[in-house]
Amino acid sequence: MREFSEEELKQLRLGQFLQYMLPIAVGFMLTYAAFALVLRSVALTGGAGAILVYTVALARARRLAARGQGERAAILTGYALLAMVLIGSLFVHFLLVALLMMPLAGVALLLPYLERSALARYMLAAFLVDVWVTVVDGLLPPLVEQPPLLLQRTVFALAAVACVGLTLRMLWVDAVRLRQSLARAEEAVATRDEFLSVASHELKTPLTPLNIKLHTLRRELSAPSSTFSPERSLGHLDMAQRQVKKLAELVEDLLDVSRIGAGKLELYPTQVDLATLVQDVVRRFEPEAVRVGSALELESDQPVSGSVDPKRFEQVLDNLLSNALKYGAGKPVRVRLEALGAQARLTVRDEGIGIATEALERIFRRFERAVSGRNYGGLGLGLYITRQIVEASGGTVRAISAPGQGATFTVELPLEVSAPPPGPEHRAAPG
Ligand code: ADP
Repeated sequence: MREFSEEELKQLRLGQFLQYMLPIAVGFMLTYAAFALVLRSVALTGGAGAILVYTVALARARRLAARGQGERAAILTGYALLAMVLIGSLFVHFLLVALLMMPLAGVALLLPYLERSALARYMLAAFLVDVWVTVVDGLLPPLVEQPPLLLQRTVFALAAVACVGLTLRMLWVDAVRLRQSLARAEEAVATRDEFLSVASHELKTPLTPLNIKLHTLRRELSAPSSTFSPERSLGHLDMAQRQVKKLAELVEDLLDVSRIGAGKLELYPTQVDLATLVQDVVRRFEPEAVRVGSALELESDQPVSGSVDPKRFEQVLDNLLSNALKYGAGKPVRVRLEALGAQARLTVRDEGIGIATEALERIFRRFERAVSGRNYGGLGLGLYITRQIVEASGGTVRAISAPGQGATFTVELPLEVSAPPPGPEHRAAPG
């Protein structure tokens, strides 16, 4: 089903009201004009003129509504009703009562814009159109020469059909809206459930080896055997520390996501030597690179410094580097930092599994992944957080890749302090 925006639904409502009001107004105008011709009554010609004004205004309002100017359309319709009543009262005072009924029906035009319970709106709209049709139908015959019975019945039946149609169409629009919000709610619940199961699995994964290593260490320390060696114990501790770090990073990512959601991602820019910072991070990743069998290279031959939040910049490089090693299939990973005018460009390139073209944009969204959870662990949050940080700093991040061809992630950041772009997710605290 096509997804309608709230604005489109409003236009649909207005559009459909006009769609039904227009034939009714035209029908009455033609009836009045026919009587005016037959009776040569100035009064009736005036009445027809009044309705003509209203009809022309309705047609214009319809065009305005189609162009998305719903408010102007509604205002124009209101003025047209007023003009019609004025002209009508000048020329055909005895038709004033009937003409007054039309503004009442016009109120129904504005009803979709008022916030009321849906049922009350339909009932009022249908009731007002019904009153209008019934009263005009009742008044017309005594006031003017009796029109043929068939004509009377036809006009009345058409108006009643239009009235029912209007109500049904309004119900349809709300049914569409209801189905849309239901689908959105179901999607949100499914995403949440999936996230909870992935998140608990991810949080549990480091706990098992952590537990095993701590047990082994305890056993070895409480009853040292002939094979006991402090190096082995240190190895166990290193492994345990790695798992604790993994856990802390996962929790930190989850906290960041809720901070971003609440618009509380805070940046504290200070003057930083980026070249040294990148060097430190790359050095920190060397043991991990050795573990996965990837050669890690850094190309940074010029000094690059500027005003950035060092912790967040480090987090961005951390995310890109750990992905490059994770998805890099043991092939070389290259990091490059360069200054381009007032911008720093950071590139992380690997020759691993690559990313399908269809997923290149998507992977920067929350919980989005382009690999199966069975082959690679992960929450699908690293790139989302990366993009949020980079954009809050006034920069950009993009990925170029193809399946099996490796991936290149490029971050461009302004080195000067600049105002972050507006938006709830991009709020930077003063440094
Ligand atoms: P996670 O790695 O926890 O799944 P990320 O947000 O860091 O979450 O990455 C989102 C997805 O982007 C990953 O699941 C993976 O499919 C894809 N991806 C990210 N970096 C790379 C890369 N260097 N090579 C191939 N795929 C990548």
